[in-house]
Amino acid sequence: MSAPLSWYHATVQAGPPRPSLAGAVRARVCVIGGGLTGVSTALHLAERGFDTVLLEAEAIGHGASGRNGGQIVQGFSASMERVEAAVGRADAQALWDLGREAIAAIPDRVRRHGIECDLRWGYLIAALNRGQLADLRRTIGQWADYGYTGPRIVEGAALRSVLASDLYVGGMVEPGSGQLHPLAYLLGLARAAEAAGARLFERSAAFAIDHGPTTVRVTTASGSVEADTLVLAGNAYLGRLVPALRRRLMPVASFIGVTEPLGEARARRLFPEDVAVADCNVALDYFRLTSDHRLLFGAGASYSATTPVGLKGWIARRFRRVFPELTDVAVEHAWGGLIGITHNRIPDLGRLAPNVLYAQGYSGQGVALTGLAGALIAETIDGHDRRFRLLEQVRHLPFPGGILRTPTLVTAMGVLKLKDRLGW
Ligand SMILES: Cc1cc2nc3c(=O)[nH]c(=O)nc-3n(C[C@H](O)[C@H](O)[C@H](O)COP(=O)(O)OP(=O)(O)OC[C@H]3O[C@@H](n4cnc5c(N)ncnc54)[C@H](O)[C@@H]3O)c2cc1C
Repeated sequence: MSAPLSWYHATVQAGPPRPSLAGAVRARVCVIGGGLTGVSTALHLAERGFDTVLLEAEAIGHGASGRNGGQIVQGFSASMERVEAAVGRADAQALWDLGREAIAAIPDRVRRHGIECDLRWGYLIAALNRGQLADLRRTIGQWADYGYTGPRIVEGAALRSVLASDLYVGGMVEPGSGQLHPLAYLLGLARAAEAAGARLFERSAAFAIDHGPTTVRVTTASGSVEADTLVLAGNAYLGRLVPALRRRLMPVASFIGVTEPLGEARARRLFPEDVAVADCNVALDYFRLTSDHRLLFGAGASYSATTPVGLKGWIARRFRRVFPELTDVAVEHAWGGLIGITHNRIPDLGRLAPNVLYAQGYSGQGVALTGLAGALIAETIDGHDRRFRLLEQVRHLPFPGGILRTPTLVTAMGVLKLKDRLGW
């Protein structure tokens, strides 16, 4: 038997595999991609009475949604300053409110669909230097301007009462962000979508798309779907299927390791408030405890998409900078995944044609924002696109193409990592 894709895959009951698409199928909407975007879209559409077929190339959760850090993060990856520059103050407020709605929807869905996914609240954004701490103070001020006053700055003993590490000079405690088991959450949503009537197919990679003004045909190796509307939800895993989307997205690799159990007492000592943590670097560390008291530690990101040699050792060296006492603790699971990043770090939602919608590029904050994307896409297909247009209006610059693409981005990432190290 092959090793599970991630610790998440090793700790959920996935149920029997879903069927592959066979023969010609008709649906009102066809969704490509069985991650949180595609499954949320299928769920919202099915709840609105749309006959929906979802095609997943591998299994539900094969992409970033089954591999991520499980951190539920407030707002957008872009600062609100940048959001405001893109859409103006009034629409930035509407987008901030949508971000809040994305987070509020999670406990609501978990309750409504009875999903056991170890949902917990409490978050620390940790600063490695004074410059980053000053930025966090500015963020608190900005968020307050948008009506959100939850977070506070911690330093010294107050910081150590949240996280037992001497690496950080301070941090922002954010009670409205949190953590969950992302694959358990996704599989729960998939079951809810099926219960609402959506048809989900696995091992059904779409390899050709033909669309006219009123009909779309999607072809897989063993079948085809004819639908009125297509939703592209393959994000960083969509590859070259739709070049217009690929240009607007940079797949960036990030890596996660999960240790052997630390034991409850030691876990509680390191994380007295059981928060999820991320630092402020561009190539950031993000970590938290699992429900069975393991350290789940993520790090990246790399535009070169090459897996570090000896991944488990690489992760262990990273987390020992945060917790030097963990020299005796081994990494049991390690994996990587692709994050879809946009140029401005604002999610990219839009239409390639009136009947072809897409969502991608949450830039590392998709656990919450994917649910919102699914809701907005379903509203739009149902004839109400006012909220969808708030994101659709954002201009997304293409990344460099051709042979310059990877070298340019590796260089850009190198500069940003240097900036992290020097604390500019
Ligand atoms: C290592 C890592 C850590 C992360 N940590 C966090 C975090 O802590 N918090 C957070 O908010 N976000 C995090 N993210 C980002 C988050 O996981 C993503 O934003 C989110 O999961 C995107 O969901 P999605 O459904 O759009 O894409 P995916 O989950 O990638 O799903 C896309 C799916 O489409 C399928 N597909 C692609 N092409 C085809 C095709 N032709 N036919 C059929 N199916 C196809 C793929 O197989 C895949 O399953 C992380 C990502 C990674 C990789």
